[in-house]
Amino acid sequence: MKIHFLGTAAAEGWPGVFCRCEHCAKARRLGGKNIRTRSSAIIDDWIKIDFPPDTYYHVLRDNLDLAAIEHLFITHTHSDHLMADDLEKRTPVCAHGVEQPLHIYGHDLALHSIANAINMRSKLYELHLVHPFQTVRIDADTRVTPLLADHDKRKLQTCLLYFIERNGKSLLYGHDSGWFPQVTWSWLERQTFDGAVLDCTNGPLPGRSNHLNIEAVLEIQEIFRKKGMLRDSGKVIATHFSHNGGLLHDDLEQVFSPHGIIVAYDGMVLHL
Ligand SMILES: [Zn+2]
Ligand SMILES: [Zn+2]
Ligand SMILES: [Zn+2]
Repeated sequence: MKIHFLGTAAAEGWPGVFCRCEHCAKARRLGGKNIRTRSSAIIDDWIKIDFPPDTYYHVLRDNLDLAAIEHLFITHTHSDHLMADDLEKRTPVCAHGVEQPLHIYGHDLALHSIANAINMRSKLYELHLVHPFQTVRIDADTRVTPLLADHDKRKLQTCLLYFIERNGKSLLYGHDSGWFPQVTWSWLERQTFDGAVLDCTNGPLPGRSNHLNIEAVLEIQEIFRKKGMLRDSGKVIATHFSHNGGLLHDDLEQVFSPHGIIVAYDGMVLHL
């Protein structure tokens, strides 16, 4: 399974859109892996998770053929994960030569936002309402199960994580989330997987509800290993970093490398 990380920042990006803090100044100065855009990933060049406002930039930076993506899974509607208006650009007069429909999966609020933005009469979109713990089969070799996150502070929407099984490999796409709700832990404890992408928004700062920090990521990896959930060659990947944490890419690698955890960066490609 190929995972292509398009963006690895929290909601404001790093450097933040308007931010003048010292951590954003340092990221600007150092550049490279310290420049983080809003979060999304592509699996096997075919499945995309989330549609952030930086998608157009991702297309330019990584020379993506976005029309080749046939399945789009939305975790939740926070503005760093869903820029619904750009989905409308997939049809004429904005796009030509696109023939395959884009299957879009999400909970009700996400699909409502998208339905309001696109031409619902177009055959180039198919919307699929998903429910926590109800597996969706995309093709004979690919199954995706939405899981519950602890994410929305106001508890006004159902935020989802996705467990992706494809050609014998499994990946937990586990953000945005705080410490997983018990119902998600119970479901996950019955699985084995090859990779887990975890939320590290808070970095070295305290806090593990709605978003995780370094300490919680380390603790979750321990649980995965102790309970035999992560397969022997399995990888844990930390992502969704906020400038408020202040740790630049090299600092994060110093923290995580001794534990065998991979620090995601924009454009990173990983094979499970
Ligand atoms: Zn986010
Ligand atoms: Zn900043
Ligand atoms: Zn969010």
